Amino acid sequence: MAVDKDVHTVRFEDRPVLLAEQAGKRYAVVGLALTTKPGNYQLALTTTQGALASQSFQVQHKDYPEQRLTIADDRKVNPYQQDLPRIREERATMDQAFVNFAAVPVQLDFLSPTQGPKSSSFGSRRILNGQPRNPHSGMDIAAPTGTPVIAPAAGVVTAMGEYFFNGNTVIVDHGQGLVTMYCHLSEMDVKPGARLEQGALIGKVGQTGRVTGPHLHWSVSLNNARVDPALFLSRAAPQVGAP
Ligand SMILES: [Zn+2]
Repeated sequence: MAVDKDVHTVRFEDRPVLLAEQAGKRYAVVGLALTTKPGNYQLALTTTQGALASQSFQVQHKDYPEQRLTIADDRKVNPYQQDLPRIREERATMDQAFVNFAAVPVQLDFLSPTQGPKSSSFGSRRILNGQPRNPHSGMDIAAPTGTPVIAPAAGVVTAMGEYFFNGNTVIVDHGQGLVTMYCHLSEMDVKPGARLEQGALIGKVGQTGRVTGPHLHWSVSLNNARVDPALFLSRAAPQVGAP
């Protein structure tokens, strides 16, 4: 949402928020978790003069469809006891990557990370092998194993590994709490800490982890809320940001 020109920092629920500029206007780009309840919310602002202010906004209810999937490897739906420490450790790694806030200018006009049909299943309530699981927190792009996956915008590789649910996974930090994640890869072609230009090769599409077939699962996180990646493929998004 638009904020005054002299806004210096914005926080939402204790997380710093991305600030961007477009056509001479300043915008706070706030991520809202799927679990956010409808109602009135406040952003906490500081101005360049150090004054405090707040700005309110409304969250409305949105319905998401139900999606039923069958996963051949039931252990990926009902992990064994001995899988749990690994799953907890991987979740901690991802959580840490999502809360990083690098005060650098941000590119919001994303390229598509791979070529193929894009699902619009973000937010769908998932029933896996008949059991309710977390809603779908990203976009699935169907493509054959080996299809290149590229960085949609410049960033830094802050975490990567072979994760229990997400398979071979790369996490890219674009700055100001904008973090993207690439899952189920057959190959990872980057190293931890690598700086990527927009369009740089990250890896290849695969079917590692919890999948029904080869595809890229692509997550976009803003101030630690997973948001619909489709929003960043729209040319309507603000183009360039500065902290
Ligand atoms: Zn997915």
